Amino acid sequence: MEHNADSALIVFSGGQDSTTCLAWALSRFQRVETIGFDYGQRHAVELACRSEVLARLRALSPEWDKRLGPDSLLTLNVFQQLGETALTHDVQISMTASGLPSTFVPGRNLIFMTLAAAQAYRRGLKHLVTGVCETDFSGYPDCRDDTMKALQVAINLGMQARLVIDTPLMWLTKAETWVLAHSLGGTALVELILEHTHTCYQGQRGERHAWGHGCGTCPACELRAAGWEQYREKNASGGQRA
Ligand code: ZN
Repeated sequence: MEHNADSALIVFSGGQDSTTCLAWALSRFQRVETIGFDYGQRHAVELACRSEVLARLRALSPEWDKRLGPDSLLTLNVFQQLGETALTHDVQISMTASGLPSTFVPGRNLIFMTLAAAQAYRRGLKHLVTGVCETDFSGYPDCRDDTMKALQVAINLGMQARLVIDTPLMWLTKAETWVLAHSLGGTALVELILEHTHTCYQGQRGERHAWGHGCGTCPACELRAAGWEQYREKNASGGQRA
């Protein structure tokens, strides 16, 4: 099957990182589609944010509106069947004996990327874009650059295709991800991401902090708050003016 080089499928969760990746893709590719996964995550509120973010991105730019194609949401309850993690069950978020946080869902990104590749293959989309990141990272081995490169090889061999996995955030700090968002869509995009994307592992929207909504104490909220703080410090002297 011929895959259009000017097209991309974004693994889109409704969070800060994948929304920035979506804006990145919309500024680069003529045809952009999105895919998400309902895997029984505790922070299912993230899924509710997806459609809101998509609608607001369309409203932000007529060009992006034209490029943005259909969204699909796949249901995967297999992770809950496989066993408990702090992302899929009500257990404490902590470090485990293996040195990985209890929020680690083994195989999650491997499965997500494989399913996204299957969708891209069927839809004729060449690029697969994901917001995984090695910098500031929480120790998830399936977010590593090597993991993604190995997956790209395995997927292309297994599907006899030439798909490309793009990871625009791989080497950026959280503060640099805000800088990227600003360069793509100015203050309007930064505000959209602050207000409408979801990061909190506890699934709380709750209070609106300077960095967005969330419980403020889980590892995901702490990372987001620290990144915003750092971004604001560096860009306080006029860098924020759009
Ligand atoms: Zn939180």
